[in-house]
Amino acid sequence: MNLTDSMEGTSIMARATEALKPISTVWEWQMRGRCRGGSGSQFFHPDEDLGRISRKLREAAAKRVCGSCPVRAECAAHALAVGEDYGVWGGFTERERNRLRDLGWQDAVENGRRANVSRLERRLAVADAREREERTQTAA
Ligand code: SF4
Repeated sequence: MNLTDSMEGTSIMARATEALKPISTVWEWQMRGRCRGGSGSQFFHPDEDLGRISRKLREAAAKRVCGSCPVRAECAAHALAVGEDYGVWGGFTERERNRLRDLGWQDAVENGRRANVSRLERRLAVADAREREERTQTAA
């Protein structure tokens, strides 16, 4: 039997091997996150702290950590795929991930595992600029 799938040119054995990979390889990136071992206080907003400014400061601090994280692409893809509701993941805040759900993000994720974070950031920046422009026109 020819083990090559004529439709996609992928060997059946390669596809089976991919399907049978241990689950740990899917989560291995979490072991390499820059936030690992920290308190997580920058990444998750405490219930008792209702201040908008402190939230922004926490988010900015968390985003700086994510900015140099070696697994940011994997983390962002995970958070978007599973719909993480709270905290900063992959350098994206709760609000930003909500916006990306509306704007679309799937086309910027490779193999369901790695997000093109630059592309997603550009998408958010364009949407924000458009929104500001609309507000300005409405106010005029
Ligand atoms: S991208 Fe940010 S939240 Fe994700 S693992 Fe890295 S440091 Fe942690």
